[in-house]
Amino acid sequence: MLKTEDRIFKNLYNQYGWEIENAIKNDDWKDTKNFISKGKDWIINEIKSSELRGRGGAGFPTGLKWSFVPKELKGRPHYLVINADESEPGTCKDRDILRYEPQKLIEGSLISGYAVGAKVCYIYIRGEYSNEGKRLQIAIDQAYEKNFLGKNACNSGWDFDIHIHYGAGAYICGEETAMLESIEGNKGQPRLKPPFPALVGLYGCPTIVNNVETIAVVPTILRRGAKWFASLGKSKNTGTKIFCISGNVNSPCNVEEEMGIPLKDLIEKHAGGVIGGWNNLQAVIPGGSSMPLLPKNICDNITMDFDSLIAAKSGLGTAGIIVINKDQDIIKCMARIARFYKHESCGQCTPCREGSGWMWRILERISKREATFSDVNLLEDVTKQIEGHTICAFGEGSAWPVQGLLRHFRKEIDKLCVNDPIIKKRKNIPYLVDQHLLEKENA
Ligand code: SF4
Repeated sequence: MLKTEDRIFKNLYNQYGWEIENAIKNDDWKDTKNFISKGKDWIINEIKSSELRGRGGAGFPTGLKWSFVPKELKGRPHYLVINADESEPGTCKDRDILRYEPQKLIEGSLISGYAVGAKVCYIYIRGEYSNEGKRLQIAIDQAYEKNFLGKNACNSGWDFDIHIHYGAGAYICGEETAMLESIEGNKGQPRLKPPFPALVGLYGCPTIVNNVETIAVVPTILRRGAKWFASLGKSKNTGTKIFCISGNVNSPCNVEEEMGIPLKDLIEKHAGGVIGGWNNLQAVIPGGSSMPLLPKNICDNITMDFDSLIAAKSGLGTAGIIVINKDQDIIKCMARIARFYKHESCGQCTPCREGSGWMWRILERISKREATFSDVNLLEDVTKQIEGHTICAFGEGSAWPVQGLLRHFRKEIDKLCVNDPIIKKRKNIPYLVDQHLLEKENA
């Protein structure tokens, strides 16, 4: 378990109060001017050495991303955009940072903004987080009162302003280029990449888009040193992470833990265990609803870090852990998720727009026992037609959960295909149907 002294978010449960005075007592805004005086290269190199990877889902190395921004300001402003859209089902970590640790985010914004040459920062908050947005605005005002923001912010010689921008509830605005479109006042639809935002972003200017948690850990990394951060977790999967544990557990919670912690420890020690006991576990979605689920036998030993989960054909994503026990109909659960993606597709790409609807409808048919084996094969084919054929990663995000279901629960799905003409002909059809034989019999 993570030692208390290694926790970055000491006020995650509001033990000390969220106001700026309390935050300062907990070391926020300590040495900020000193870090800025060391220069952009020093900050970026420290973040690179810490091996911090983005906490929003993709896990891209943060220092490397920052280094893509042009070094010099050549007549065009640079922008920092902070993604507080947090629309991924099963994820609510940024909400607690906004509520209880806003000064970490604000201080991190100043330091990160300076490192990438930005004097203006937009924090894009989902519309549903209206209370969190109000709280953040008060925290920003408190920082202005102390001259931590504004002209010569924190006596650093760098001018820095933060503006809050509210979204209107579209999941796709969490995609970085859709977010930029939305801030510009356009329909929130992803842009084709390249060019990437680091070169052509907000208003056509160099822009870095980072998640709330990524920015909020930056000051502590600089204060305690890149080596300290890199000593936690595993190589290339360093530091701490806020995990959100929900679903069929006794005590759903957000908890900060070391990267690479076993999933079982997270569920058993922090979330009070699976309802009905560990043996009642059916599957876990480890990284928000867009990541493929893992069945119990993998959950027994898997560790929660980017690379271990990729090796298990899933992903850490936002670290939104959704626990599904054996009391649930797994196909209905996944059909519900597919319905969400069908609803949230922005509609620009045909494979995503049409495919997300196809996936939902076929899963509904399966759950109602109205599907055939060819429906299941079609479902698999649709996921492949979406994956890799769309403008943004939403396509994969909608297809991967279904692929995970087919990979691990094919046997259960096939058992539900009661309407298949082959099944009607042969009562004891084996689970592994010979496709060639099936096609022959169908013909
Ligand atoms: Fe829109 Fe889906 Fe295409 Fe992304 S993949 S741009 S959400 S249609």
